[in-house]
Amino acid sequence: MEELLQQILQECRPYTGQGALASYIPELARQDPDRLGIAVFHKDGNMVEAGDSRRCFTIQSVMKPLLLLLALQDNGRETVRAHVGVEATGKPFDAINVADNALLAKHLNPMVNAGAILMCQLVGGETYDQRFARLLGFIRRLAANEKIDLDEEVYHSEKATGSKNRALAYLLKAHGLIRGDVEELLDCYFRACSIRVSAADLARIGCVLACHGQQPDGQRLFPAAYGRFVNANLMTCGMYDGSGDFAIRVGVPAKSGVGGGIMAVVPGRMGVGLFSPALDEKGNSLAGIRALELLSARLDLSVF
Ligand code: GLN
Repeated sequence: MEELLQQILQECRPYTGQGALASYIPELARQDPDRLGIAVFHKDGNMVEAGDSRRCFTIQSVMKPLLLLLALQDNGRETVRAHVGVEATGKPFDAINVADNALLAKHLNPMVNAGAILMCQLVGGETYDQRFARLLGFIRRLAANEKIDLDEEVYHSEKATGSKNRALAYLLKAHGLIRGDVEELLDCYFRACSIRVSAADLARIGCVLACHGQQPDGQRLFPAAYGRFVNANLMTCGMYDGSGDFAIRVGVPAKSGVGGGIMAVVPGRMGVGLFSPALDEKGNSLAGIRALELLSARLDLSVF
């Protein structure tokens, strides 16, 4: 298996040069575009890794399914469904998706920015500090890694330059989808995006989702039904307007982030974490997708 991962990385290296770093968050443009790492965590607890699999980067949108999981646990399925839709937007992750002056919850899904911003208010807690602390604690438990923490530089960089997300949030507020203070909510969202993880962390988290909440030691971290909810949402919306193409090329639920990470969930089998910060035009890791495509073909991972 380790040999296979090494081989895949060799084949994918040329692709890192074809993508571009996310420059709209200045701090992310300082990354080394040639980094490439992969980690596979099996349901029996076995981890196999290659390349920059322990290198830390910011989780960015890969936190969205974890935010959704926590919102489901804190509110139940009906309340979450009442606050945010589940249909693919077919549009970029930061699109202002308004039709005919009406913006309804059902126009959004939890995997695009507007849906995720809105979901921050569904995390249980009195204040946004408490909500963020609960999300961070949850991510640490899912990854079995207490060292996971915030990248202060990326957080400040994103907060200082996040006009588009600010515009989205105020639009949600104008349409009655956000209550309370928008800036506090946005601060929670920016911090959530700036949590530092590695491909190995994402592989572990992906495996808990693949096992519908169960860890290798039998401990349950969330109800199986919520795992199925999140995996289904990942399959249809996790790679944004590239989700259909990804379903054909790779065929498993997955989530990307503009930090260069991808978390893939192979139901009943394994979690896969990828890291390569050069992105395609949809904001997905270019070499990361290619590596997953090769892994899926060689191990017959597609659920289709
Ligand atoms: N922090 C990023 C943003 O809000 C997350 C987007 C992403 O990873 N696709 O723009």
